Amino acid sequence: MERKPIKPVKPSGMELTFHYVCPHCRKKLSVSSPLLPAMISCSVCGRDFPIVPVDQYTVHFIQLMLGDGQAAVDPDYL
Ligand SMILES: [Zn+2]
Repeated sequence: MERKPIKPVKPSGMELTFHYVCPHCRKKLSVSSPLLPAMISCSVCGRDFPIVPVDQYTVHFIQLMLGDGQAAVDPDYL
């Protein structure tokens, strides 16, 4: 029995990633919407540093604007 090809899957949600530059080695690190002040470990040099959090309402606003990712899908793909 032949299987039907699977249609490309649309995103079911999204998250925002923010970039922070490590003060020790200057490498850019990606952090997914940090909503609270935190210490993060640099994946390159291994040293810790504190980061400024992002506002959850701003993140939710952008998710809302993009229909949780649906509005970002290329209309040619639909
Ligand atoms: Zn570093």
